[in-house]
Amino acid sequence: MTTRLLQLVLRTESDVFVARQRAREVAAAVGLERQDQVRLATALSEVGRTLFTDRGGPPATGAEVWFGVDDGTLHVEVVAIGPTQAQQLPSLGRLVDSLTIDDGPTTTVVRMSRRIPVGAQLDQAGLDRIRAELAASAPRTPLDEMAEQNEQLLSALEETRAHRDELARLNAELEETNRGVMALYNQLSDELEETNRGVVALYAELDERSAQLRAASEAKTRFLANVSHELRAPVTAVIGLARLLDDPESDPLTEDQSRQVGLIRGSAADLLRLVNDLLDLAKAESGTIQPEWSDVDLGAVFSQLRGTVRALAVPSVELVVVDPGPATIRSDEVLLAQVLRNLLHNGLKFTVDGEVRMTASRVDEDWLIQVTDTGVGIAPELHDRIFEEFYQVPGRSPTGAPGTGLGLPYARRLVTLLGGTLTVASEPGAGSTFTVRLPAGGDGTP
Ligand code: ADP
Repeated sequence: MTTRLLQLVLRTESDVFVARQRAREVAAAVGLERQDQVRLATALSEVGRTLFTDRGGPPATGAEVWFGVDDGTLHVEVVAIGPTQAQQLPSLGRLVDSLTIDDGPTTTVVRMSRRIPVGAQLDQAGLDRIRAELAASAPRTPLDEMAEQNEQLLSALEETRAHRDELARLNAELEETNRGVMALYNQLSDELEETNRGVVALYAELDERSAQLRAASEAKTRFLANVSHELRAPVTAVIGLARLLDDPESDPLTEDQSRQVGLIRGSAADLLRLVNDLLDLAKAESGTIQPEWSDVDLGAVFSQLRGTVRALAVPSVELVVVDPGPATIRSDEVLLAQVLRNLLHNGLKFTVDGEVRMTASRVDEDWLIQVTDTGVGIAPELHDRIFEEFYQVPGRSPTGAPGTGLGLPYARRLVTLLGGTLTVASEPGAGSTFTVRLPAGGDGTP
């Protein structure tokens, strides 16, 4: 329910001054802030001036103004009698919270409201007290009001000037910051350009080094291929001749001579193995090995290896080749068999007792072929080195079988050619597992 605080009657335009002054008093009494007091008073004064001004039509002959509080809001209602110029009211939306105009043929009702800050709202007793005070206070003269208005105008001007100065100071600060940012940006740009130049130079050097490395690697491969090729014929000849010398059909040798010829044959055989391994590796590296792709029956490869490799196993080591069942892989049968034979040979070479086991399992789109042994094992820090050419773990081959250190690099090369990977998992004394992972569908080459 609205508590009415004050009622005024306006008869002439000069009463508008009084209305303005009273509006400010009411606004101050109910707790509106200073700015809002001025806003409300200005809005009422504008309404009064518009209603009482002859702007191309007859002005109002009189008006009643009501101030009241309702639900934490100060309401002002102006009821003007007679035809008015309400439609000419300037926009007052910024001065009050709500404004409605009821423009009838005989009366015009303008309603405005402004919310009172929550902390300042009064209870009924407070409102009654204000009403009594307002009734007791007499309105001042238009001249007083004019002076007051001037004062307000001056303070508003002062405030505006302060704002303007603050704005100018902020602008200057902003300009300064902008200059700083630009300087920083330029510096960063320069630094970036410098770094870029460095990176470009580094890349050029890297390219050059890569080219040199490639050339060196190719030269090495060519050298190995040529030397091995040239060596193979004479070494084979030495083996042949030594065999002839030792032949029962030939002139008999003394026991000593026969032993020496045996040594020559053994050394020549080692040399031939090395030459053959070198030639294989050189071929694989030079890219002259082209896999011949076909659908390979893994079961058949396994059983063929079981037959050929078994002969190498000593009685204390069991060779277990687990039949993979129906299994087809798109690969090169000869190269694949070569890789697996190599791994089985190694397993048998480095295992004194226990077993060497080969299994195959399908994982997603790949075949995983694993050769596991219960042999000496390999220290983790050597897992990369054993794939380097000629590297052999020192003090090895518990079975005394010879080696060249070229088997694993060659095997890895072949597996890469077949589109797969060759990895090792091993611990000293805990055996080793070599895993060949190959895509079941080949490397995509038809
Ligand atoms: P090698 O002709 O000596 O067998 P590889 O390249 O096949 O040459 O192997 C390199 C080295 O890796 C071997 O000398 C051996 O020290 C180690 N190695 C390979 N396979 C095994 C294995 N199954 N168990 C233990 N060590 C192995």
